[in-house]
Amino acid sequence: MKKIVCPVCKAEYTVQEIYLPEYLLGNIKEVEKDDEGKIVVFYGRDMDLKESYKCDYCNSTFTVFANIDFKTKSKTNDFNKSYTTPIHNKPRLIFNED
Ligand SMILES: [Zn+2]
Repeated sequence: MKKIVCPVCKAEYTVQEIYLPEYLLGNIKEVEKDDEGKIVVFYGRDMDLKESYKCDYCNSTFTVFANIDFKTKSKTNDFNKSYTTPIHNKPRLIFNED
């Protein structure tokens, strides 16, 4: 379990006591992507990783900065397919001269 610790009195909090899920994760209404799946633009509220909280035990206010990282791993291990970039999208037409 991840803990958030008050910097003054060392009282411990769970992430859920301090962050509201809808603000931490944001709320994206619509995402536009190009043909390769890259995000071009999104509409809505991005993740809000910074939160202020007033300690229940010592009454001091402190700021929490979440550090969230996402890693991906292929489950199929199809390395050849994932990174293939087609050079010629269309087959060329070659005429035979007899
Ligand atoms: Zn405290």
